[in-house]
Amino acid sequence: MSSQTISVHLPDGAIREVPVGTTPLEIANAISPRLAAVSVVARLTPLATVPTAEENGAETASDEAMYSAGDAAAPRLVDLSTPLREDTQLALIRESDPEALKVVRHSAAHVMATAVLELFPETKLGHGPATEQGFFYDFYREKAFTADDLAAIEAKMAEVIARDEKFVVESQPREQALAQFERDGDFMKAHFVAKFTHEGDQVGLYRNGSFVDFCRGPHVPSTGRVKAVKVLNLAGAYWLGDEKNPQLQRIYGTAFFSQKEMDTHFKHLEEIAKRDHRLLGKQLDLFSIQEVAGSGLIFWHPKGAMIRKVMEDWMRDECLRRGYSLVYTPHVMRRELWKISGHEGFYAGNMYTPMELDDAEYRLKPMNCPGHILIYKNSPKSYRDLPVRYAELGNVYRYERSGTMHGLLRVRGFTQDDAHIFCTPGQIEDEVIACIDFAEAVLKTFGFAEFKVELSTWDPADRKTYAGSDENWLAAIGSLERALNRKGIPFKTIKGEAAFYGPKIDFKLVDVLGRLWQLSTVQFDFNLPARFELEYVGEDGERHQPVMVHRALFGSVERFFGVLIEHYAGAFPLWLAPVQIGLVPISERHHAYSAQVKAELEAAGFRAEVDNGNEKMNAKIRDFANQKTPYILVMGDKEAEAHAVSVRTRAKGDQGSMPLAAFLEKSLELVKTRSTEL
Ligand SMILES: [Zn+2]
Ligand SMILES: [Zn+2]
Repeated sequence: MSSQTISVHLPDGAIREVPVGTTPLEIANAISPRLAAVSVVARLTPLATVPTAEENGAETASDEAMYSAGDAAAPRLVDLSTPLREDTQLALIRESDPEALKVVRHSAAHVMATAVLELFPETKLGHGPATEQGFFYDFYREKAFTADDLAAIEAKMAEVIARDEKFVVESQPREQALAQFERDGDFMKAHFVAKFTHEGDQVGLYRNGSFVDFCRGPHVPSTGRVKAVKVLNLAGAYWLGDEKNPQLQRIYGTAFFSQKEMDTHFKHLEEIAKRDHRLLGKQLDLFSIQEVAGSGLIFWHPKGAMIRKVMEDWMRDECLRRGYSLVYTPHVMRRELWKISGHEGFYAGNMYTPMELDDAEYRLKPMNCPGHILIYKNSPKSYRDLPVRYAELGNVYRYERSGTMHGLLRVRGFTQDDAHIFCTPGQIEDEVIACIDFAEAVLKTFGFAEFKVELSTWDPADRKTYAGSDENWLAAIGSLERALNRKGIPFKTIKGEAAFYGPKIDFKLVDVLGRLWQLSTVQFDFNLPARFELEYVGEDGERHQPVMVHRALFGSVERFFGVLIEHYAGAFPLWLAPVQIGLVPISERHHAYSAQVKAELEAAGFRAEVDNGNEKMNAKIRDFANQKTPYILVMGDKEAEAHAVSVRTRAKGDQGSMPLAAFLEKSLELVKTRSTEL
């Protein structure tokens, strides 16, 4: 390389020799003006230190990342106008790339601050990072912003965007920038400059039009690239999070590269809100949480309890079919036991505090494992008895901080579909495969087509954090990997994420809105068998320690139910629906026939409900439809005469009249196959 040119390596493998000082925008334009038009920023990786893909993470929105220069050798996002000074890999980040969204949102925060200063010049600026859903900017102003002010800010932002002002970096000696901010009373900006730059530094300031802000960037090339922006709401925040400091006004907003993307985003949020299990739980009368009893404790109402019964029946039957034994263990056990298990040491913070009885102290169980272990230990085991598989729908209680509970998803009391498998090392792989099969069956049966799998392993560099021998760990990780490979399941290995007691496989299901939920887990344990001195007599007549696997597939019945409610928006498939069939007699003279139909349906195993009220037929149909009842059968003279029913389905509406026998055959088939079709 000569001193005048540098080589720029592009993702397709092409290498361009360009003069020092060439910008990514010039390179983009040389490739194609269309590429330049959709590029937002560039990712540079200095060639001396090309990292692996894994380390090549996205930038964070933390203050540190916003203001400080960071590690010069690390990959970083830069403005398209940044002059290139050294050999580098360069990737152009386009509007469609996920990383670009943060850039446009942070740029929109500058646009918001520009608008606020133009409207309310007395305002002092804090900072304006991008967030998961958009961005915010913190402002200090004595008068509170009103709803009208927010509307005016949004309108002014549109003007700033229409002016299409370029984002330009200006650099200033640090002392000069500090003096300027201090003179202007910009105490927050002065703080950030003082904290994140050093004496003698040149400080980078971003200008658009007459607005100047201190930050590290990067930004979109000009304000006009922020195509869609919305001011959302206002919240209070203390400067530096300290309530002794001035109170700031934090204005939230969101931004996109197009109005269409923004519309999709709000539609998605609306869909999420409509499916909120807390809302549907109330509308459909499924469950409640009652302050008088305590937060995070679930009351299952008859309809919710019916769904739970169907879920639990399925789970228990499957456990039996798959060679598990069902057990029950106590909810409270002596504190001594939790000392042996180690929970008193490493898990006490998540447990309810001890209660003192006349003979000893007791604690509510946060896990079922010690109970199952006591059953295992209660009689001698030989290799012929293994594997032993104990399953329990066990209620556990865990302390969650008040204020952190969330509907069915985060609770203080819940039911694990828990099982513990005790086996010989040689049986591990088959047992793990059986657990994976079972997990897949759960997800499929309950209507989740897609899931992601993660294998959490240890970090051998951090050896002292982990219980069990190296040999055990390597064997366990190997058997989990082999099991996943034998099943042909793609998985992501996450180093250092294992529990201290063993590696694990986590299943994350993908719901109908594309959200990921962590539910099923299969975990190895080298710790508890040692702590409880578990044994079996091997073929060699010697005593050996069994291997132990914890596994939960729903995870928590409560949480799984919450996910199901949102996944189906409360419209449960026929086999799960609490009321499967709603019966609507057209008038009083059809009550006798509808009672007869109900009896026949119930004899066939259906859950049916008759509406014998005085309302009109259409009102009754509407009531059942509001309850998301899968089938509604209407019965009048014609139906009574022909021993028929007029069928309406939740999805397709009026299906016309059919003989009751034909309806029974069809709907029974849907239940038997646990169809998600209806
Ligand atoms: Zn910025
Ligand atoms: Zn366990």
